[in-house]
Amino acid sequence: MRDGLKCGVCGREIHESYYRCGECGKVYCLSCAERNPTIKSLGVCPDCEETYEAEIIVKQVLAKMIYEEKLEGAPLSTVLKVCKKAAKDEWGQELSPQKFGRVLRDLGFREKKTIKRIGRRGARLLVFSSFIKHKIPPPEGEPEKQEQLNPFKSG
Ligand SMILES: [Zn+2]
Ligand SMILES: [Zn+2]
Repeated sequence: MRDGLKCGVCGREIHESYYRCGECGKVYCLSCAERNPTIKSLGVCPDCEETYEAEIIVKQVLAKMIYEEKLEGAPLSTVLKVCKKAAKDEWGQELSPQKFGRVLRDLGFREKKTIKRIGRRGARLLVFSSFIKHKIPPPEGEPEKQEQLNPFKSG
């Protein structure tokens, strides 16, 4: 008996089988799962699914800034603006500041360490530290295969 397990959507106590989001652990009773297809097909709640998508976009945008534009940092507001546009262009979706913030947190950005306040009005700057760079892979299309070529191999 699972004592007191409740559906995270409708709050009903669960006595039969249920679905659980593999990411945040949110529980869905069968009828709520019926109305939320992503929990059944992908095993994550719609919220976490959207965060995945947002993460892909944010990573792409940051990777471009870090590896192509060789930036060491960028204003938070600028990054958000570029990410919002990318989300709209690629998926026709809105990227909310909340979701954006959650992705930044997941990527390891932290206040005072890699999110610095600058100026009197407190504009915030994202710092692309080596830790952050480690979490963000270079843009796709980087030649990975070259690792297999050994220029020192003797014939
Ligand atoms: Zn429910
Ligand atoms: Zn979830």
